[in-house]
Amino acid sequence: MIPITLSWFVCVYLALFLAGVLILWIGYEIIRKRHANIISRNRVFCRICSSRYTDGSTADLLRCPVCDSLNERSASGR
Ligand SMILES: [Zn+2]
Repeated sequence: MIPITLSWFVCVYLALFLAGVLILWIGYEIIRKRHANIISRNRVFCRICSSRYTDGSTADLLRCPVCDSLNERSASGR
């Protein structure tokens, strides 16, 4: 068995706990950003009538349901 003092045990325990929290935080942040990109990609802004609508298809040119004009899908959803 490895001899370890109480102060070192607390330090190691705290470091492992904080490393676990940091890894979970980074993982959830990556998942959240990926989900936000998918949502913003589905949002389309019509430049003719200024309406916003969502479209789940993969086409690059989308028809506006209000004014029937074609709009290009942008990455930011604007
Ligand atoms: Zn429109």
